[in-house]
Amino acid sequence: MLEQKINATLMEALIDEEISRYWNTEPHSASTTQVYRALSTVIRDLLLKKRNTFLKQFTKNQQKKVYYLCMEFLTGKSLRNNLYNLKIEQEVSEALKKYNVSLEELYSIEKDPGLGNGGLGRLAACFMDSLATGNFPAVGFSLKYEFGLFKQKIIDGWQTELPDDWLTTSDVWLIPRTEERVIVKFDGKIREEWTDKGLKIHHDYPTQIEAVPYDMMISGYDSKGVSLLRLWESRSLNSIDMNLFSQGDYLRALAEDSLGEAISKVLYPSDNHYEGKILRLKQQYFLVSASAQNIVKVHYGKYNTLDNFSQKNAIHINDTHPALVIPELMRIFMDDYNYSWDEAWKMVVDSVSYTNHTVLSEALETFEDNIIKVKIPRIHMIIAEIDRRFMDEAAHNLGDRNKALKMSIFGYGKINMANLCIRGSHCVNGVADLHTEILKKTIFKDFNEYTPGKIINVTNGITHRRWVNQANPLLKDLLTDILGEEYYLNPEKLNLLKKYKNDQSVLTKLDEIKHQNKKRVAEHVSRQNHINIDVDSIFDIQAKRLHEYKRQLLNAMRIISLIIDINEGNIADIVPETFIFAAKAAPGYFRAKEIIQLIFALSDYINKNTFVKKYINVVFLENYSVSLAELIIPAGEISEQISLAGKEASGTGNMKFMINGALTIGTCDGANVEIIKEVGEENFFLFGLRDHEVESIWNHGYSSIQYYQKNLKLRKIIDFLNKGINGKSFESISKYLLGGSAVGDPYMCFADFDSYMEIHRKASHLYYSDKMKWNQMSLMNIGSAGIFSSDRTVREYAEKIWGLTPVNK
Ligand SMILES: *Cc1c(COP(=O)(O)O)cnc(C)c1O
Repeated sequence: MLEQKINATLMEALIDEEISRYWNTEPHSASTTQVYRALSTVIRDLLLKKRNTFLKQFTKNQQKKVYYLCMEFLTGKSLRNNLYNLKIEQEVSEALKKYNVSLEELYSIEKDPGLGNGGLGRLAACFMDSLATGNFPAVGFSLKYEFGLFKQKIIDGWQTELPDDWLTTSDVWLIPRTEERVIVKFDGKIREEWTDKGLKIHHDYPTQIEAVPYDMMISGYDSKGVSLLRLWESRSLNSIDMNLFSQGDYLRALAEDSLGEAISKVLYPSDNHYEGKILRLKQQYFLVSASAQNIVKVHYGKYNTLDNFSQKNAIHINDTHPALVIPELMRIFMDDYNYSWDEAWKMVVDSVSYTNHTVLSEALETFEDNIIKVKIPRIHMIIAEIDRRFMDEAAHNLGDRNKALKMSIFGYGKINMANLCIRGSHCVNGVADLHTEILKKTIFKDFNEYTPGKIINVTNGITHRRWVNQANPLLKDLLTDILGEEYYLNPEKLNLLKKYKNDQSVLTKLDEIKHQNKKRVAEHVSRQNHINIDVDSIFDIQAKRLHEYKRQLLNAMRIISLIIDINEGNIADIVPETFIFAAKAAPGYFRAKEIIQLIFALSDYINKNTFVKKYINVVFLENYSVSLAELIIPAGEISEQISLAGKEASGTGNMKFMINGALTIGTCDGANVEIIKEVGEENFFLFGLRDHEVESIWNHGYSSIQYYQKNLKLRKIIDFLNKGINGKSFESISKYLLGGSAVGDPYMCFADFDSYMEIHRKASHLYYSDKMKWNQMSLMNIGSAGIFSSDRTVREYAEKIWGLTPVNK
């Protein structure tokens, strides 16, 4: 279809056809929503055809495929991305004239599919784009949450959560594949039967849930490739208990139904924090069982054997959430296809690989042994056997059973999912150099000694096509003028920009672009927050999930300190600054919500105080999402990447800001370390303790009080919090910082405070004293960001982990 080049006339005809087919209406009287749906349907079907062509090629070559399992895919909107990647925005724009509607209007109708919390899900989405662009055959698997991540509304300074009904627009992108539904079994009893063909496993009295796939197509850029994202919806198999129904007990019949539906009802809203909830476990098993059954069926359908399974399939588990795919594949290979344990185990380990995303103890998943035993009894048996064999083998090899036990999957009545993952994978990767080194030294120390070389690093990346070319069209135009289009597919070519670092006209253009993008944000702030911000002030942005370790509180402390200085008339060091925050807190994360409340109160305070407002301003933008990120990141001048060293595994927000020309104020943490390596320390504002210093101070007993006593600024900040803001006291935050029953200031804001203040002073003074130098540093950041494209990341995964080659190469 696309072979027949799309032009405006053809596009019009296709849209017309959809409009008349669905709404039996004349094209010129179609509503904007109808045009949106019609156009999206046309594009969706084009992509479906394109994917089929792509697959034919791949099938002919009998190539390996990657399946990427993840509980979250934070894709952002589809329409613009697909039109951009198909290079047909112009043609479509032309065609739309007939309907009296612009592309921008249609883009604004679509709702963000909020099928993820933050960085983890966004990474998965960037991978789908880069895989398609690189012509890698890829399928992503996740759940079709009826409600994605909540919408955030701040009411009287407090975060409240509203349901996210994304399906009311984005459903057009989903193609139901009812014929490919599978059954997932929970509960029940396992019965072993010895037959003359060997041991037969029966699962008696299970609760059966139907998994129905919905397919979403994700276009590659200027490529043959189209990635498939397959989202599973849960349904009760006996969607209604006919017995109850015929007895007139409608309500009970319906209640039965809701049990099955609940599994894919809603995304758990925690980021970097695990929930030991039964429903969450069911979601995880539901995802992996449906996906594994699907993968095996497709393979068997094609090759009529599973003997070559691991040569043809790479199965990736993104974080431990899909860990149960390991025992689930074992179950299918042994119980359904009669492979021996050893054969099945080899097939599993050779195909599965795992990415670790965190070392935070509160985020490491463990499930109650007993819950797994009851809810998924066969899986429990298999995990127990994996562990038994592993312990015997390791005890034998190490000559020390106690040492082996440290790697056990079981402990304290719990199942350790990370240990299951590392055991069942042929390769494990961390997401940035520093994080990978920490993995090897801490949670995976014993594994790393036991199987050296299994843990490798592949640093995260972002798709620069969405995050620059679509989100920042002015910058794209400038880069294209200077470098041509080559960097679209070869982001390393951004390097060539560095040749222009002394070119005044390029630097001035960068400055103008930033200014335009800041104006765009100022208009949004004025509409949303009814606050007028100074477009000539430096825009300092911290946009990411709200987490103690990310230290939005450190940023807020600096703002308080500036307010105190301004009120006291110490304005020698004060320059105009606008602080922009965007962050969702997990609904049950009280401390995080309190920090939002503090930021909101600061914003309120400043906007009621004309004197302070002359210098600085603070805005908190509601509902951080991919679309909001696309709006504000291009306007960033300072990017706040200030996590406590050793806590942020990689970060990808840092990369998005960098490639849009922001300068980073950051700690030596996650991928910041590699950003510094690329751009040079002279083009980065580095501050704070290093990870080994954090560890050493912590081990010697961190005492925030000691910093407090020595530091007048900190004492004033605490006084300010205690006194309260507009009548609201923040004593609870000052207690948190000073400690009491718990260790005060657990993320060491006090320890890094002076260093943070100092680096900011340096940055803002440079901004106001030598803007051209600033722009030059900005240019160097853009020019050094190519390596952080997810095109590079997926290429590394393909080579080092999956053993995958692109189609047609
Ligand atoms: C990139 C992104 C993130 C991750 O940001 P970090 O700063 O790396 O934590 C979270 N949410 C959204 C919407 C994003 O686009």
